[in-house]
Amino acid sequence: MQKGTISVQTENIFPIIKKFLYSDHEIFLRELVSNGVDATTKLRALAQRGEVKGEIGDTTIEVILDAEAKTLTIRDRGIGMTEEEVLKYLNQIAFSSAADFLDKYQDSAIIGHFGLGFYSAFMVADKVDVRTLSWQKGAKAIQWSCEGSPDYTLEKIDKAERGTDIVLHINEENKEFLEKYRVESLLEKYCKFLPVEIQFGTRTEYETIGEGEDAKEESKEVPNIINDTHPLWKKSPTELKDEDYIKFYRQLYPMSAEPMFWIHLNIDYPFNLTGILYFPKLGNAVETNRNKIHLYSNQVYVTDDVRNIVPEWLQLLHGVIDSPDIPLNVSRSYLQSDANVKKINTYITKKVGDKLQDLFKTDRPSFEKKWKDLGVFVKYGVVSDEDFQKRAMGFSLLENTKGEYTLLADYKDKIKDKQTDKHGKVVCIYTNDRDSNDALIKAAYNRGYDVLLLDSVLDNHWMQHLEYRSELGFLFVRIDSDSLDNLIQTDEKRESALSEDEQTTVKGIFEKIAGATPGVQVELHPGAPDDLPVHITRPEFMRRMKEMQSMQGMGMGELPDTYNVVVNSNNPIVATKLLAEKDESARENLAKYLYNLALLHQGMLKGEALTGFVEQSLAKV
Ligand code: ADP
Repeated sequence: MQKGTISVQTENIFPIIKKFLYSDHEIFLRELVSNGVDATTKLRALAQRGEVKGEIGDTTIEVILDAEAKTLTIRDRGIGMTEEEVLKYLNQIAFSSAADFLDKYQDSAIIGHFGLGFYSAFMVADKVDVRTLSWQKGAKAIQWSCEGSPDYTLEKIDKAERGTDIVLHINEENKEFLEKYRVESLLEKYCKFLPVEIQFGTRTEYETIGEGEDAKEESKEVPNIINDTHPLWKKSPTELKDEDYIKFYRQLYPMSAEPMFWIHLNIDYPFNLTGILYFPKLGNAVETNRNKIHLYSNQVYVTDDVRNIVPEWLQLLHGVIDSPDIPLNVSRSYLQSDANVKKINTYITKKVGDKLQDLFKTDRPSFEKKWKDLGVFVKYGVVSDEDFQKRAMGFSLLENTKGEYTLLADYKDKIKDKQTDKHGKVVCIYTNDRDSNDALIKAAYNRGYDVLLLDSVLDNHWMQHLEYRSELGFLFVRIDSDSLDNLIQTDEKRESALSEDEQTTVKGIFEKIAGATPGVQVELHPGAPDDLPVHITRPEFMRRMKEMQSMQGMGMGELPDTYNVVVNSNNPIVATKLLAEKDESARENLAKYLYNLALLHQGMLKGEALTGFVEQSLAKV
């Protein structure tokens, strides 16, 4: 037996390896199995070039657990290593690259922690034996052993099969990796789509033999292959049917509803990337749908956390991205500025844009039907990505309260005749609560206005963004906004049916009832006679301030609820009935009733006030 010492330039790295990212010890398995895959792929390449003579035989990689001996072995039938190669690759290259890696990245979060390689074995093992036989003619089998110090031994062994066994003598702190289920779940997580078959023990297969009464159930042990060597994203889209994509989606996310559609990514220049991105049905569940994209590198699982690799809005998509061109052994902050990552982002954004445009063009009705879910992506993309914003003009839709959809680009033309204010801005009227605003919506219809339904999570952001883009010339006004009343009044210029004195009287009555509440203002407006006698509006500016406040998680308490009680002096109940009532308390009761009706109409009458109102109404029956 030969003994030696790995030449150590830096300090002894073994203690550092053991401590490295404590919670991520499990990646050792991925690193070692991937090495086995590499060795196998290299062998296949040599065989293809005719350099390896004869059949290469079964190349299944085995993961073997021996709880009694406390070892976990990764066995491949790849190219193996000669003595020189062991000295060169394990003592020099692997050792110094592990040292390098630790040196650079000890303190930063490394994406996927690729790069520690072979030496990650020492995170979980007190001793590692590498038993290997090279494919090369005349090669002798050898065993390299190292006990987590720079000293190693090298000896000749008997090993008839080509390839490498990495035998890990699992240490006490990491004995979890001697449990079958733990190992199985790690293989499932990291190795599920590796391109070489990986076997972990055997499993029982049942088979029915014979028929009828003679039928017998027979069982046999078969190799337990844990991976699918040809994952869907590596296949050509032309070979695949919709069912294949849906099946794969179910495999990835067993609990999720079926996706709406998907994009198959496949590019090899100027970078290499394959993958499938699914558009899930999002509804308003934006947060719970984040971080579902799995990142792979050559079919090796890296991470679920694709922040800084995929733009934020695209993190709502689900699926798989596989690219060896994403630098995986760098820190997150570096990633953002990486040229390949930028190109990849641009590519994915373009693909998503093209897909949406295509769907819109080929089947607009179905696109409209999906808009509730699709709109979330599109709006998120529009507000956060300038590139996408331009593309999205071709398929951004506005839905109105009648369920009709108009392309954003066409909407201005549709409404500009009726809905342009005195500053030349096109006023888009919208509601985010169709049920509570029903009365106001009907009143808007009577004036020939169009009312948009903007009630999804991102609509506020999106509206602000559209307003901010001055070239669009849009102004959004909520249906209960005082700005809308102003628009109507400048448009219609109605005279009040009441004299100045009468107006003062009416205003006084309502002020007595509602005006005492802080934040509430009474206004008298000459509306159309068939408009409601009283309705509630909100000052646009204050409302937006409050919304921003609550969105940023600031206390709602700071700004009081402000609204206007708008009394229509031309409605006959106000103009005639209320004024004709000479008894003061009867007058106040009527005014109060009208005020409560307005609150009720807009979903603002709640609690005790609502109960009181109902009781009062019942008393009149
Ligand atoms: P990397 O795989 O990134 O090159 P590693 O530290 O994991 O770095 O391995 C260093 C080298 O050791 C590999 O490049 C390879 O030449 C050799 N090696 C490791 N594992 C095996 C194996 N199972 N079979 C053959 N060679 C291996």
